[in-house]
Amino acid sequence: MDTKLLYQDPDTFITPLLAIFSVDSATDKDAPPAPTLLSTSAAIFKAAAQVLASGEFKATLGETILIHSPIGVAAERLLLVGLGKLASLSLDELRKGGGTALRAAKPRGLRQVAIAFPETPLASASVARVIMEGVGLAEIDYDIYKTDRKDLSIHTTTLLAPEKSVGIDTGFAEGNILAAAQNLTRSLVNEPGNVLTPTVLGQRTAAMCAEVGLKCEVFSTEKLHELKMGAFWSVSQGSAEPPALIVMTYEPAVAPAEGSPVIGLVGKGITFDTGGISIKPADGMEKMKYDMAGAGAMIGAMRAIAELKPPVKVISVICSAENMPDGKAFKPGDVVTAMSGKTIEIINTDAEGRLVLSDGLHYAKTLGCTHLIDAATLTGAVAIALGKLNVGLFSNDDATVENFTSGLPLSGEKYWRLPCTEDYRDQIKSQIADIQNTGTTRYGGSITAAMFLKEFVGDTPWIHLDIAAMAWNDEAKPWLASGPSGVAVRSIVEWVRSYAKETLDPAHRAQ
Ligand SMILES: [Zn+2]
Repeated sequence: MDTKLLYQDPDTFITPLLAIFSVDSATDKDAPPAPTLLSTSAAIFKAAAQVLASGEFKATLGETILIHSPIGVAAERLLLVGLGKLASLSLDELRKGGGTALRAAKPRGLRQVAIAFPETPLASASVARVIMEGVGLAEIDYDIYKTDRKDLSIHTTTLLAPEKSVGIDTGFAEGNILAAAQNLTRSLVNEPGNVLTPTVLGQRTAAMCAEVGLKCEVFSTEKLHELKMGAFWSVSQGSAEPPALIVMTYEPAVAPAEGSPVIGLVGKGITFDTGGISIKPADGMEKMKYDMAGAGAMIGAMRAIAELKPPVKVISVICSAENMPDGKAFKPGDVVTAMSGKTIEIINTDAEGRLVLSDGLHYAKTLGCTHLIDAATLTGAVAIALGKLNVGLFSNDDATVENFTSGLPLSGEKYWRLPCTEDYRDQIKSQIADIQNTGTTRYGGSITAAMFLKEFVGDTPWIHLDIAAMAWNDEAKPWLASGPSGVAVRSIVEWVRSYAKETLDPAHRAQ
């Protein structure tokens, strides 16, 4: 899909479909809906007047209504796209509105879509960005393995903006970059385990890096042994597929000042998780191809970083393996030694994500990372704790969390901080080793997983994102297909960008 930004009056633009955002401006809770258009065009208001007065369209979020041959407007069709209440309108509704417009056009076989830039009090650069994110994300359907797939692709989406502005130009470009990055993540997560092995994940990552100019190194078994990554290796040893340790490096064009932060993105890349010897039940196991969604998020984020070019050095470490039961597989009761030297008693081989991450986090530190973030589909327990609306966030540093949350109004993603304080440490005490890989009870399972990771980050500021409940959308939405969500890409990118001011020479840093 091509995307275009034009500075043109929407009522004179010739297109098969022109989308106009609409809100319910009723303020009283019990008042009937008062749908209105986020437009200043008298012609468009006039063309939509009858529908708006009919009561058929309430402008709820994701609702659409189509007006054919609108009088006084050059478009063949007007599509009114509901964004919900005006009083609660935020960037996220506009992102969803952009997606809704596209997904309304697709089944109609239309190839060209135009979207009128909405009149809102929100910053126009951000508005342009989120609409293009929504449009890009909505383009994807997960039917690539269907032999009878119908071509419902949109060829061009045009954003029609009122008057030329650098902010809108930038927002438009960034929206396209972030959507493409998040779609890369989603396409990787969608791949079946027999297609996307650790080796193939390494190849695809290397191909992406070559395309956008990132340094990429892909290692396997030998390197794991050389680095003494006993925890990572233990997970991979039961699979016929060799593991992949993928290291991507982004260097800003101008070298950051001495002592500037180096950001480390560490991803869990289990391309299929059977649970190993502690095997999972058959029901729903097919979904465990998604157990590399944390790695996918980091690969997508690195793609966006390469294109957005923040002045911050970023290193990403991906730990990819397949967790299989086999004669050579690791077993409950085994004791393994992590790269950091800590010994780990294996209680449950299905708690493998934290094992690969423990070596990944430690390795990222040895590469010079001063701030760490990891993303992982780590625990089912996080869905019990938070449901499927918030990512579980854990950290050892409040300032780092503040930097992360400062980007959320723009990224539109939801995170909820859970504790990982020292009083939980007893949960992972082992009788015979330094620590064990699951808690002594099943309570607070996401927290004990975070406590385990915390053992390997030391004093380095660190955030852990447990995306297990959020990496896959079970239900389709009017703005998005069901399947991989690509969660965390946008928020991680904003977090990295939040360190830009700290890479300047101290003399130039804003006070
Ligand atoms: Zn597992």
